Amino acid sequence: MKVILLPKFYGHCPGLKRSLKIADDLILEAEKNGKKIYYDVPLAHNEEVEKKLQKGGFQEVNIEEVTDAKGQYFLISAHGVSGQKIEKLKKKNFVVKSAVCPTVKHVQQIAQNDYVDGYQIVIFGKSTHPEIIGVNGSVDDSATIVADVDEGFKIKLNKKTSVICQTTLSSDKYDEFVENLKKANPKTKIVARNTICPIVEGRVQMCAAHVVEEKPDIVVVVGSKTSSNTKQLASKLAKLVPTMLVGSEKELEKSDFEKNTTVLVVSGTSAPPEEVERIAEKLKNF
Ligand code: SF4
Repeated sequence: MKVILLPKFYGHCPGLKRSLKIADDLILEAEKNGKKIYYDVPLAHNEEVEKKLQKGGFQEVNIEEVTDAKGQYFLISAHGVSGQKIEKLKKKNFVVKSAVCPTVKHVQQIAQNDYVDGYQIVIFGKSTHPEIIGVNGSVDDSATIVADVDEGFKIKLNKKTSVICQTTLSSDKYDEFVENLKKANPKTKIVARNTICPIVEGRVQMCAAHVVEEKPDIVVVVGSKTSSNTKQLASKLAKLVPTMLVGSEKELEKSDFEKNTTVLVVSGTSAPPEEVERIAEKLKNF
């Protein structure tokens, strides 16, 4: 089987690399200072990464159940949190450490600036996603949050509006949502803040262009089925070529592939590069 694996199509994004480095450094600091590290949102949508962090001493916690953390560390993931949550953590005596991606911080800032300027904030994204909870928190939980493109037709706006997007969604859907919102509210000033992460968008576009040019028989997208950017990458490529979304090498069966197939292996931004390389090796031996 011919396997194509190119560095630009897989591995962690800079935001996640940075937050994992912060986590590694914090493990050493905690060891030195005899402290524990708590978190409540996975740093990456990836089991292997989570296991590694837990081995290093990370412990999941429900902060509502903590009354006094006695100065133990709490690490905020790349997705960010609201200012209110940081205050709550501090009140409970956590020492708050941040691994928030600068791109996510920037999105929070954009939303907050528009909110202060009197805009109604609409967020196109998943209301339960930590990033969206954080962005909504930066505008006093006042945002209207919508995940479905067609919902744009149903929202009635009564003042100038800024439309923010979850960083890991697709531009196509966001643009369609904004268009629907504009059609439903023709007299309202609607400002589209395309806050999609350029790394996510760039990888989707590069992979799609490669598929069109090189015409592999099948694409294997490595990543978690709960990761937004991985699902988005897989769904975009599935429109061009048969595509499999694979969480780990254990899911691969030789019988799923025909002989002499050319497979392009790519990944979402939270899949560890070592996992992607293991999968590519396994495929080569089919
Ligand atoms: S996908 Fe983009 S926004 Fe999300 S952590 Fe990575 S660099 Fe940051």
